[in-house]
Amino acid sequence: MKKSFLFWLGVATLFCSACFESGKIEALDEKIVSLNKELALAENALAEYEKNRPQPLTVLMDTVQKNEGYYQVLERLGVKNNDRGAIVLAIQDSVELSNLKVGQKFHVGKDANGDVQVFRFSPNPSIVHLLFKNPQTNRFEYKLVQKPLTVKQSIFEGHIVQGGTLHGTLISVGIPARMSGVVAGVLQCKIPFSSVQPGDRFRIMLEESFYEDSIWISGKVIYAEFEGRVVGHHEAFLYNDPDPKSTYNAHYTETGEALIFDGLRYPLDRLHITSPFGVRIHPVTGARKMHSGIDYGSPKGSPVYAVAKGKVVVSDFDQYSGNKIAIRHADNSTSYYMHLSSRGVGVGAQVTGGQVIGRVGSTGRSTGPHLHLGFKNAQGQWINPKSKTMIATPKLQGERMARLTKQIAGIRENLKQLESAEPQPIEGSTVKVKQKVISRK
Ligand SMILES: [Zn+2]
Repeated sequence: MKKSFLFWLGVATLFCSACFESGKIEALDEKIVSLNKELALAENALAEYEKNRPQPLTVLMDTVQKNEGYYQVLERLGVKNNDRGAIVLAIQDSVELSNLKVGQKFHVGKDANGDVQVFRFSPNPSIVHLLFKNPQTNRFEYKLVQKPLTVKQSIFEGHIVQGGTLHGTLISVGIPARMSGVVAGVLQCKIPFSSVQPGDRFRIMLEESFYEDSIWISGKVIYAEFEGRVVGHHEAFLYNDPDPKSTYNAHYTETGEALIFDGLRYPLDRLHITSPFGVRIHPVTGARKMHSGIDYGSPKGSPVYAVAKGKVVVSDFDQYSGNKIAIRHADNSTSYYMHLSSRGVGVGAQVTGGQVIGRVGSTGRSTGPHLHLGFKNAQGQWINPKSKTMIATPKLQGERMARLTKQIAGIRENLKQLESAEPQPIEGSTVKVKQKVISRK
């Protein structure tokens, strides 16, 4: 019993020791304080749980293999049908279970009856999602434990050479290969690469997070600048919304113009995919079934937007799709919006991209409020809505624009500081890079 308690709490100990480990941490910022509070809550809850639990748990671990979903891993761990469903339900709002990567770890703690009492999923070494069954309600409760990360900012400068590829050029200035695709994507929003000339200059600022200083967790392009003889001068700034899932989190020009590839808009303010396009496996039965759209979990009543300009061709109700709307677009593709609680437009109406056409609901065959977004191509076949990629976010206004302006000032300040830093040798490159640790959180 003691042993399993220590196991689940290992997370907590690691957090504390890493966080107070040395004088490397100058300031215990607010984030650490709040994380500590969260951790204390999780610790207390676990301790309370452990105290009240009658019998010790058997802890099993397995990792995600190639082409596997959570269903296969849970099945290998011998998780019973009812627990499987309950785990997925309890965790799906916090984790994209449709996006598993090879090597990610699942732990389950089972009681003597083989029922799961504790579930632990760690998508990367810095994050642990915990579920434990409340003995009173017999339902899983969720806790998130985040370990401290080291966040580094780096700046990369270079110029286009005759005959060089963009990818090759980015790598040659020290941009890690794991980030070069993202950097190219940001640049391509604004710059037609057919007009790029040898000698054109660029400057990129990246922010990357590492666990224990060396294990890469994530990265983003904070700033990109391009100065071209033909294309002119362009800058892109990453906007950080207080809501991390907001569709406004994207790159903008200084005047708040979104950097976009084409004219599609997101159908909701917040995107949380609960079921992706393609063959899906039912969490309980394990049956395989084609899902011809994407399900976005969202509270009932949230506004649903037309993804692009078009004409409403369907606005009705049926027992499967519930309230549904379909919009035909200029390229003869059609977008479908299902399970709505209410419809705001009728057949024949002309709508613009971003116009509210209805509200999220759970009508028809649905287990909870969500938007099912479907897309048919001009030939009438269902396609993955995600393949109509690079969806626009509108120009920032009001409070968001004010926030962007403030963030841009911060980015410019950071750029100045980085420019005066001494170039450091970096792993995996022969180039020295100006870099600084901005926080450990
Ligand atoms: Zn669906």
